[in-house]
Amino acid sequence: MIPLQRPPLQPRLAAELERATAQVRAAGPNTASGRAAWRRAVRPKAQLRLMLRQMAPGLERCMYCGDNLGTDIDHFEPIAQAPLRTFDWQNHLLACAHCNSNRKRDRFPRDPATGDGLLVDPCREDPADHLRLYLDSGAYDPLTVRGEATVEVFGLNDRPELVRGRRMMFAVVKALLLAWQAAATPAAAAEYAAALREIHHADVLRTVLALRRSRPLALAVLGPEVLDALDRIVADPSGLTG
Ligand SMILES: [Zn+2]
Repeated sequence: MIPLQRPPLQPRLAAELERATAQVRAAGPNTASGRAAWRRAVRPKAQLRLMLRQMAPGLERCMYCGDNLGTDIDHFEPIAQAPLRTFDWQNHLLACAHCNSNRKRDRFPRDPATGDGLLVDPCREDPADHLRLYLDSGAYDPLTVRGEATVEVFGLNDRPELVRGRRMMFAVVKALLLAWQAAATPAAAAEYAAALREIHHADVLRTVLALRRSRPLALAVLGPEVLDALDRIVADPSGLTG
């Protein structure tokens, strides 16, 4: 999971969503009225999906696992718990079918004392404040109660394909950094940089970049050659921000 920027809505779409919310309110806000209105909202849903795909990590990846194609508009706070947030743009995230239908479903754990949601919302906060990724194992170490709830609900540590995928991606990131550094032509370098920006498990590259905050740690984890390539690509205006 990496932090994501949610763009503002166009006024016309915002008005459409407000009207839809008013209809849910008028129908008596509950799970059935929320879901029925959501099913009917074909046009706004298509627009929302387009916006979510543009803000999703890499090649339209799931905002939770970062691995699979994001296919579903997930209601972060489920319709069953907050029918009036069915059309709330701040409540929409792009998820893969597995995260949405097999893992999260209507789960939305809350702090028993405050009632606040415990899942980490990548559009509102930096997931790294709650989750530490170990590059050598590919596993997440929850740093907070909210990190713990997030790992548990999405199965971030008990889906072997995710844990192994992140571990393998660390090897891929290192290889791509070296390839970028050794590229024979600017076009080849641009291709390697694009691969780094767009490959799955964007949390791995983000964790590698964060290592630079501690020079000794970065050197120990990456080795001198990869760290040198990382420094250079970060300093290159056409590198990772491409
Ligand atoms: Zn997913």
